Amino acid sequence: MTTDTPVYAYSAVLMGSPILLKLFEHNEKLAGQVFRLIRQYENALTVNRDHSDIMAINHAAGHHPVSVSKSVFSLIQCAKAVSLLPDTLFNFTLGPVVKCWKIGFQGHRVPPADTLQARLSLCNPENVVLDEEAHSVFLTQSGMEIDLGAIAKGYIADRVQNFYASRAWRVPLLIWGNVQTLGASAGQERWAIGLKKPFAAPDELVGIIHVVNKSVVTSGVYERYFVLDGQCYHHIFDSKTGYPLNNELLSVTLISDRSIDGDIYTTLLYGMGVEKGMAYLAARPDIEAIFVTRDKQIICSSQRQFTFTLLDNSYRTVSY
Ligand code: AMP
Ligand code: MG
Repeated sequence: MTTDTPVYAYSAVLMGSPILLKLFEHNEKLAGQVFRLIRQYENALTVNRDHSDIMAINHAAGHHPVSVSKSVFSLIQCAKAVSLLPDTLFNFTLGPVVKCWKIGFQGHRVPPADTLQARLSLCNPENVVLDEEAHSVFLTQSGMEIDLGAIAKGYIADRVQNFYASRAWRVPLLIWGNVQTLGASAGQERWAIGLKKPFAAPDELVGIIHVVNKSVVTSGVYERYFVLDGQCYHHIFDSKTGYPLNNELLSVTLISDRSIDGDIYTTLLYGMGVEKGMAYLAARPDIEAIFVTRDKQIICSSQRQFTFTLLDNSYRTVSY
């Protein structure tokens, strides 16, 4: 990611992903504040530790509702709404399936088919009861588990942008795993963001995306996976089958104002595939996307909010 203006970089590892914060001034105090803010949200949302707001809800599944903060409640409301869209691949109650595969963690495995079926029966988003007045969440079946892994980073990245905006400081640049939030760079010049080449070294790029004041989020099957008997098992699941989603795509990148939208729609468009995804985007001028397919095609939506420059000639850009 580049701009012509000098930037100061600060790094940390949060929610298991390296995070890079860039500021236009040298300000360690500010960077520390941002990392602390992210850690607070991580403490509320993580499911990879025994204690968090989400884990309190999960531990109480089948027993009683748990009240959470207004912001966590709103995020859960949003996740439930997206999980109930018609034909959605997104399911925020997929925790029992995600935990069973352990992809990206020690002990990853292909679960037996009957175990997966049993776990899938615990993944019905209708069985999450929300009480708006009490800000409480009740998972009606014992064994149910919420997993916000698909949207937590995007949500938190937006909170960081709000934190900056509320103090009228220059908006920073945050690269956190697959989520990149980009405030206007000094002088409003464009940010240049690399689109990663699937299954290659981290610095190998398919091309460059140019944007001004946007969020760029990518979901790719190459982010977390393992290979067994020549088969690649990755971390984005088909919520109908419980197995990693298997279609023509290797990654989907979303360009939007808010990172939460990027995080939600990368998963949704992933599930739609190129044809349905492009038809959907034609009616959504507020968001844009870049699809990378297994047969090395790059398909971009209208490019009103970004431009894409191909760097790797083994790929080809295809108009749709
Ligand atoms: P991302 O890196 O944003 O693509 O999100 C991947 C993470 O989302 C996974 O590690 C799981 O925690 C979670 N996840 C996987 N499949 C789904 C799905 N179908 N719906 C909702 N969350 C999912
Ligand atoms: Mg996501």
